[in-house]
Amino acid sequence: MKHIGVLALQGDFAEHKTALERSGAQAVEVRLPHHLIGLDGLIIPGGESTTLRKLMDMYGLMQPLRDFAQTTPTWGTCAGAIMLAREIIGQEAHLGVMDITVQRNAFGRQINSFVTTLDIDGERYEAVFIRAPLIVSVGNGVEVLSRLEDGRIVAAQQGHLLATSFHPELTPDLGFHRRFLNMIGS
Ligand code: GLN
Repeated sequence: MKHIGVLALQGDFAEHKTALERSGAQAVEVRLPHHLIGLDGLIIPGGESTTLRKLMDMYGLMQPLRDFAQTTPTWGTCAGAIMLAREIIGQEAHLGVMDITVQRNAFGRQINSFVTTLDIDGERYEAVFIRAPLIVSVGNGVEVLSRLEDGRIVAAQQGHLLATSFHPELTPDLGFHRRFLNMIGS
């Protein structure tokens, strides 16, 4: 069974744990650097990226997370994607490991949250956006997985790194969690 860490400092880590368990993986809460040892992959959940950053600094997680994400499958959803990005418009990057540029709160305030249907690998997928970041641009080695109808990028993969603007843990479809588990191999 695959052991997948879920960064459990803040945000909706519990929903990711449930989705992972429903997908047949073992979910492990990560709060301290030594919790990363032996994991096959890691999810950084949505929440508030500035708060996540403060807590990562407080618990000495920045460098351990950077080292982990450089070598091991890591998926950031919403605020998690912001944590992974090499560039955040208007501010300093956090982990800076994935070659994407993001713009925080690109769709407006909480009240402008929305649900839409995306096309991912030819399949329809319902996606929840909550004060979501937009992936403004991606580097050469990054594959765009999905765009909104107007062409804006909302999911991307760079080798073992995955970033989604939306929250696959909030809908019953396990497609994205399965995709992440498939990135890990057997
Ligand atoms: N707006 C949040 C941020 O900028 C992200 C929101 C989310 O993760 N749902 O960090």
